[in-house]
Amino acid sequence: MPAKASKKKAKKAAPKRKAASKAVKAVYAFGKKTDGNTTMKNLLGGKGANLAEMAAIGLPVPPGFTITTEVCTYFSNNKGNYPKGLEAEVKAAVKQVEKEQGKQFGSKTNPLLFSVRSGARESMPGMMDTILNLGLNDATVVALANKSGNERFAWDCYRRFIQMYGDVVMGVQPKGEHDHEPFEEVMDKLKKELKAETDNDLTADDLKELVKRYKALIKKWTKKSFPQDAYEQLWGAVGAVFNSWGNERAVIYRQKYNIPAEWGTAVNVQAMVFGNMGDTCATGVAFTRDPANGEKVFYGEYLINAQGEDVVAGVRTPKPIAQLADEMPHAHAELEKVCKKLEKHFRDMQDFEFTVEDNVLYMLQTRNGKRTGLAAVRIAVEMNNERLMTEKVAVTKIPAESIDSLLVPIFDPKAEAAAKPIGAGLPAGPGAASGHIVFSANMAEKEVKAGRKVILCRVETSPEDLKGMLASEGILTSRGGVSSHAALVARQLGKVCICGASEVVIDYAKKTLRSGKTVLKEGDFISINGTSGEIFAGAIDTTDSEVKRVLEGNLKPSKSYTYQLFATVMKWADKHRKLAVRTNADTPEMAANAVAFGAEGIGLCRTEHMFFEGDRIDYMRQMILASNEKDRRDALKKLLPFQRKDFAGLFKAMKGLPVTVRLLDPPLHEFLPHDDTTRRQLANKLGLSQEYITERVKALHEENPMLGHRGCRLGVSYPEITEMQARAIFEAAAQVGKLKKPIKVNPEIMIPLVGFKQELKDQVDIVHRVAKEVMEAKKVKISYTVGTMIEIPRAAVTADEIAEVAEFFSFGTNDLTQTTLGLSRDDMGSFFDDYRNKEIFNQNPFASLDQSGVGQLVKGAAEKGRSVKKNLKLGICGEHGGDPDSIGFFHSVGLNYVSCSPPRVPVARLAAAQAAIKG
Ligand code: ADP
Ligand code: MG
Ligand code: MG
Repeated sequence: MPAKASKKKAKKAAPKRKAASKAVKAVYAFGKKTDGNTTMKNLLGGKGANLAEMAAIGLPVPPGFTITTEVCTYFSNNKGNYPKGLEAEVKAAVKQVEKEQGKQFGSKTNPLLFSVRSGARESMPGMMDTILNLGLNDATVVALANKSGNERFAWDCYRRFIQMYGDVVMGVQPKGEHDHEPFEEVMDKLKKELKAETDNDLTADDLKELVKRYKALIKKWTKKSFPQDAYEQLWGAVGAVFNSWGNERAVIYRQKYNIPAEWGTAVNVQAMVFGNMGDTCATGVAFTRDPANGEKVFYGEYLINAQGEDVVAGVRTPKPIAQLADEMPHAHAELEKVCKKLEKHFRDMQDFEFTVEDNVLYMLQTRNGKRTGLAAVRIAVEMNNERLMTEKVAVTKIPAESIDSLLVPIFDPKAEAAAKPIGAGLPAGPGAASGHIVFSANMAEKEVKAGRKVILCRVETSPEDLKGMLASEGILTSRGGVSSHAALVARQLGKVCICGASEVVIDYAKKTLRSGKTVLKEGDFISINGTSGEIFAGAIDTTDSEVKRVLEGNLKPSKSYTYQLFATVMKWADKHRKLAVRTNADTPEMAANAVAFGAEGIGLCRTEHMFFEGDRIDYMRQMILASNEKDRRDALKKLLPFQRKDFAGLFKAMKGLPVTVRLLDPPLHEFLPHDDTTRRQLANKLGLSQEYITERVKALHEENPMLGHRGCRLGVSYPEITEMQARAIFEAAAQVGKLKKPIKVNPEIMIPLVGFKQELKDQVDIVHRVAKEVMEAKKVKISYTVGTMIEIPRAAVTADEIAEVAEFFSFGTNDLTQTTLGLSRDDMGSFFDDYRNKEIFNQNPFASLDQSGVGQLVKGAAEKGRSVKKNLKLGICGEHGGDPDSIGFFHSVGLNYVSCSPPRVPVARLAAAQAAIKG
């Protein structure tokens, strides 16, 4: 019976499925006929979806169509084949564009030309190549010349097309890192022969000659002719875009931004418009606000009589957009209107590309603009003031990490005022950076590996430099504007950056950087202020940010706009978040610092850090070296006053906010001296023989200390350690409770590395006993709780049993990650890169929680714990407490708080609010 039923079902479903697969639409038009919209980014990519949206709201977009990302995935999984029916769909879409433009693709009288552009779900600037002027061949180029009445223009388009197509589709590319671009070489040779200085000096006839040589070059390299058939060209270009999704540049970028390989890219095929047809034409890139500092000004740059990447490529220096108001007042006025319309419609700062053909404006792209952290905060606050964003939206628009850029150090104002700038450029990435000069990305990586801080100085940067840029403190380029690669990447990476410092002359061969009379060599110090754009020779000291100075009472809030922005965002964040944010702090200074940043308590005070200062380490060592309980107790008695004092200091600094104290955690041998000299000194101090000490050190040696005698296991073996620590905590609590201005502390005592209910109970009993003793002796009542860390898998899976004894859980996700993955954080350096490159790790599991593995243990333990104690308090105190993605996860599994290092507190507050808003 069941077999029959399922057969029947299958029969019924089959034709339907077939019909569905046939009906999967692979091509979406934009223009007068528009099929897509901005919500369809997954399918159409960001560029395609927004071209459709702009067309739909009546902005002047040259018509075209988008081949979906699903086709890319199909193409990758099927050895470069396309789904059935695609060809017909593309043909129909071309027909539609032909109709709208009144031109025909491949026509020898009135040819329609296309651009073929990639476009993934998220923009990946400069990562994949665009082909322009597609459809030109030996016949259509003549038609274009006749139609436009501009022969030079037509042949310039043709030679550009052959160059781009030859490079991207046919693979005529430099073989080694140091080889010249083959097409450039041909061009340079011709220019030399003709004594032409720039490309612009080449006449139509020169360009015809160039085309001939380009074709010969392609033939020589590939043994194939440059294709003349328009459709052959089109399919070649489409395939190249899909293939480019897997190229090295794209893969590196995807890894950095955790973009999954499965997303794929769409292909946009769009009717060409020409910014290179003469002086009534231009092309440019603009932002509706300043992407470096967020100020509300129309911002961007353009070139007259230019095409495509000329603006970004830095071949000619583009002009600031304000100048367009003089050169092309009509187009400039149109653009200002477009800015308003774009912001009102997309409700965010836009970064757009445009071309002016014969004084008519065309929009070629728009997207939410990449911005620096500072700009992100300012734009969110100001757009909320302008009612373009609600408060909730504004909160989600600020990448949580951005808040950090308001807190990073700036140059010490006095030191900076005393230094004399040697030059200046465009401030493209705010902040202050000092470091050794390096002139190549490779050198940057090498120096940083050797522990030096570097500033990468380049004429301009290209996507190949990405790794070196990542390693550098800051980036300085002598060429290129706000839309240059360097600026773009700096904005995304939050790097300090100055670009287009035109007085600076960088000589790669001589390894010098000259500005005016100053000449600096590789290795010399240089300092750059990415907020003002000024460059200084030498190193300059840095100091606290404005925000920090206000928080510490050294600057009036009204004197700092940055602080006001910070305060607004933090107020919003606190209003919306559900998670409390605590900090990991061991000293009163750290704690006070964190409280100024908004911490609501201490989630982890590591007591072992308290044992290292001054004489304490000696008593600690005496305790460890003791061979019997009595000697151990004697040493512990000496440690007690120190611990008590430390806890009292911490309780005072926290003014009654909750404090979680973790009892001794690391293996004891960590405290012992490992070299002869210190052993000898210790022997003298403690009146022991050096041999004895060496012996004990040997005895305490462990093969695998991380999994050895540590955590609560120490307390189980030596209950007197737990006793002493508990006593110190309660006596300190009693002490601050009797101050003139009494502080009421409810200490939360946390037992580390628990795996068994019984071992936790063993320790909890000690704490209760000591608590009772102290309260009776001091005649006070202290309310306190005893809980445990959940940091080994056994504790997580038996969390219901453990919850019977624990009054709270705190997930120690560092150890929980190590023990769950069976992977030591300190030993993965040798293979981490392999795991990243093979995409086994999408990210470092110690920086961002492994949600599907470790995360499931956290989730399960939370549920089990609360099944026994409904209101069990749950927190997390690993590194992950300061990581926005992980915070989102902790919110979703219902923890009460995250605890992170003091400087991460603002990031955590914002991330927690975003998690709550995104719900
Ligand atoms: P990227 O994603 O690298 O920005 P694009 O696909 O946006 O690449 O293309 C790069 C440039 O090519 C654009 O900025 C624009 O100047 C030019 N371009 C693209 N399509 C067209 C077109 N239809 N007409 C004219 N220029 C175009
Ligand atoms: Mg673009
Ligand atoms: Mg631990």
